[in-house]
Amino acid sequence: MFYEGSIYRPPSEASSLILQVTVGCKHNQCTFCNMYKGKRYREKSYSEIKEIIKEGASLYPSAERIFLADGDALTLDTDLLVTILRELYATFPHLQRVGIYGGPLDILAKSPEELNRLRQHGLHIVYLGIESGSAEILKQIKKGVTPQDLITAGQRIVASGILLSCTVISGLGGKEYSKEHALETAKVVSAIDPHYLGTLTLMLEPEAPLLRQVKAGTFKLLNPWEILQELELMIKHLEVSNCIFRSNHASNYLTLKAHLPEEKETLLTALSDVIEQNRQDLLRPETWRGL
Ligand code: SF4
Repeated sequence: MFYEGSIYRPPSEASSLILQVTVGCKHNQCTFCNMYKGKRYREKSYSEIKEIIKEGASLYPSAERIFLADGDALTLDTDLLVTILRELYATFPHLQRVGIYGGPLDILAKSPEELNRLRQHGLHIVYLGIESGSAEILKQIKKGVTPQDLITAGQRIVASGILLSCTVISGLGGKEYSKEHALETAKVVSAIDPHYLGTLTLMLEPEAPLLRQVKAGTFKLLNPWEILQELELMIKHLEVSNCIFRSNHASNYLTLKAHLPEEKETLLTALSDVIEQNRQDLLRPETWRGL
């Protein structure tokens, strides 16, 4: 497939056919993110998208899963998205699900009726980056939304019947806001009550603006043990009803998987054992980063 620039997709879409219907990220301001800094945002025309679908079908006619990229493809007009979904299910006879990234503002721009329509046409899952539930951290990282915006956006997806997968970023408040990050993020995630929750650990690529603050000494990164303690605090305060929790991204020091709330205590015990016994041997060495 021909893609414009680097392509990103959630870990759970690793086996999906990726179709790039937008380029870059409309917001593109977050200070920790470098994913689309080199791309100028644009929405592809329907004729371009039809060509992409045709190319995908010639290469992967048996695709069962499709992911629509780039960073916040849900920003596309609802009528266009419905047309794309119709075309996809008509073109790929084995297609079972379509996933997409949705920024909070893109979700809020869609009415409950529009989201319902998208679900009826086969939009199966939306991936929403919460990053943090702290108003202060959201402001500092220039996410462009408040905790309440995140809650309203997440709840709107859940209410539509589309699956919601959320991600939060450990260490995003640095040392100064670590506790607030854990507690406020737990509050926002609990209020949304998503179907899936994934954690990433803050990793800064050279183009990420936050790296300048780290180098200037105004943002202090957490060490691996502080990251795990922060995660432990967040999980302790999580109140979700039926959520698959994953901390298995390459950026994470420790791989964790659990079904919440049933396995909350098991998860917390696993975490505290690693922390209290100083089990450095269980941490991912490639993410040790010399701290
Ligand atoms: S984190 Fe998401 S919304 Fe923020 S700049 Fe990166 S892709 Fe865009």
